[in-house]
Amino acid sequence: MEEKSRVQELKEVRKKHPRVKKDDKVIVIAGKEKGKIGTVLKVDSEKGRAVVEKVNVVKKHARPGPQTAQGGIIEKEGPLNISNLMIVCNKCAEPTRIGMRRLEDGAKVRVCKKCGEPMDG
Ligand SMILES: [Zn+2]
Repeated sequence: MEEKSRVQELKEVRKKHPRVKKDDKVIVIAGKEKGKIGTVLKVDSEKGRAVVEKVNVVKKHARPGPQTAQGGIIEKEGPLNISNLMIVCNKCAEPTRIGMRRLEDGAKVRVCKKCGEPMDG
């Protein structure tokens, strides 16, 4: 029984989160960064969070170290909730939902639901 509910849980997580991957172009659709567009730098699918280039930049005080010789303030992107992101299609340049399509060789690709073009490669 427990096993079953775990599967159900995973299915729900998958349904809720768009299939965001590293290097995808995304737009923020909710929250204080709404409307900003950037490239995904990192995805934490377990936590449902992603780091997007130049979005949700937070200033951090840094101690002097190898990367910040002087110390001081560094700017770093903070993680965003993946459910607040929507993928922007490279082909039609519109925020879009992602569909899956099975190719003739059996491989699955992500496709733009607006223009039908594959999102990868
Ligand atoms: Zn498209």
